[in-house]
Amino acid sequence: MKEEEKKKLESKNSNCKYIFVVGGVISGVGKGITASSIARILSDRGQTVTAIKIDPYINIDAGTMNPTEHGEVFVLDDGDETDQDMGNYERFLGVNLSRTNYMTTGRVYQSVIESERNLEYAGKCVEVVPHIPLEVIRRIELARDKAGADVVIIEIGGTVGEYQNMLFLEAARMMKIKHHKEVFFVMVSYLPIPSKVGEMKTKPTQYAVRTLNASGIQPDIIVARSKVSLDDKRKEKISMFCNVPVDHIISAPDVDSIYDIPVNFEKEGLGDMICDTVGMTCGPAMNEGSTKWKKFASSAHNKKNGLNIAIVGKYFNTGDFTLSDSYLSVIEAIKYSGYLCGSKPTLTWISSMDFEKDPKRIKELSKYDGIIVPGGFGSRGIEGIIKTIEYARKNNIPYFGLCYGMQLLVIEYARNVLGIKEANTREVNPNAKDLVIDVMADQKVKIEKKDLGGSMRLGSYPATLKKGTVAEKAYKAISIAERHRHRYEVNNAYREALEKAGLVFSGVSPDGKLCEIAELPASKHPFFLGTQFHPEFKARPLSPHPLFTAFIKACQKNKKK
Ligand code: GLN
Repeated sequence: MKEEEKKKLESKNSNCKYIFVVGGVISGVGKGITASSIARILSDRGQTVTAIKIDPYINIDAGTMNPTEHGEVFVLDDGDETDQDMGNYERFLGVNLSRTNYMTTGRVYQSVIESERNLEYAGKCVEVVPHIPLEVIRRIELARDKAGADVVIIEIGGTVGEYQNMLFLEAARMMKIKHHKEVFFVMVSYLPIPSKVGEMKTKPTQYAVRTLNASGIQPDIIVARSKVSLDDKRKEKISMFCNVPVDHIISAPDVDSIYDIPVNFEKEGLGDMICDTVGMTCGPAMNEGSTKWKKFASSAHNKKNGLNIAIVGKYFNTGDFTLSDSYLSVIEAIKYSGYLCGSKPTLTWISSMDFEKDPKRIKELSKYDGIIVPGGFGSRGIEGIIKTIEYARKNNIPYFGLCYGMQLLVIEYARNVLGIKEANTREVNPNAKDLVIDVMADQKVKIEKKDLGGSMRLGSYPATLKKGTVAEKAYKAISIAERHRHRYEVNNAYREALEKAGLVFSGVSPDGKLCEIAELPASKHPFFLGTQFHPEFKARPLSPHPLFTAFIKACQKNKKK
């Protein structure tokens, strides 16, 4: 870097603001959405904002965590397998983030140990403190530089008082020494209303703030989550016992749509207050970005033109809560395209195993306007999914398959149209006679070596679309790039036969070797399309994904019929 550029960067960095978002009382009350909403507000007011998620797990990434326990694995352009909150940041901010924006305890320790092995500590004794927090700080600053950020929002996973995130709070405290006037803390707390008492209680929040104080950190702002809005009395109480000015306590009641939160925060004066507190000259609350957002947020309340969409898969016997977390990006992608087309989609989760146990039940699918099979792994429920796809194909119900949903579409077509009865994927039955879906060549070695973490085909890859196909018409482009996460692919040995039988590979890798999209032409089916990639990772509130939009339009037509 030239001397002049270096100086410019240093001066920009010396003004950069760091806003840490931490949780108090209980988890799951919306730290991620709070961080995303603050990011959105500041970005709309003209700041360059980036957001970082800190996951206190030893796992190097979220790729090895069970989605029903930890939520969706969100894949970034660079292939990092991250936490679902990274998806929220990307969607709220409308940007693409990279692995610099995500860290876990495992990742931080791994770097420190690697540096020690490389003799980078020059003979010093390497200790948990300060070396681990210093590595956290180094990573935060790296993300700042990469984004050229005016503001960095850093969400620390978990709640204060847990052992797991202590070193991250220590890093935040040390950050305050390093960049003292530029570091701020937002605590997202929870105020319960015990049913017998019927009154909102502030005491858990008071304790949480004291616990945070014990880490040497004083919150600047408290976002008070509760079932209903906070009254003045409660605000005054929190202010008095937690050392936070009354107007720095933001009421955040439950909402029907998370997209209202940035709008509500601005109503509460959060934007002006943050800009004041952190000493930034910001644009006004009413601006081009916030107007667009408001319009989108109000479209989310549209109740007209309902669409019934079935999501068929295997992870579905775990209760609604985990479900919506495991497939968060798919759900949001459907909503964005639905709202864009003036429809309110209602999703029904169907376990494909139901169709294996009782094949007659497949007819229940006739009441849906469209069917989606999302990504997945393993052999459970697969035959039921293949039956689902066959039903959608034969009964002209719009079908959209995502990753595994595309591979199984190809298997269904091979079995029932080409008559290859034993068509299968190596993932389900490596001994099947016809492995229409097989392991990718470079993946074979990785599986043999048991090199299984972060080793799939991950992240953004380009594809070329065939002119005149459903896919090309939806994208209105020939070259696209989408995010992947898979080990298996369409076996080229069967490609010609499949194409002859009418299946169109409308998207392929630029070298032509990998099938990225399989579809039936519009003349043969209202919408029958599967993608080897995960389009849901690139759907954004203000720019819905073209394939989801094409699917929704097909569902609307199907409903009208
Ligand atoms: N299990 C399939 C594979 O590994 C599909 C993966 C997915 O749906 N993300 O190729």
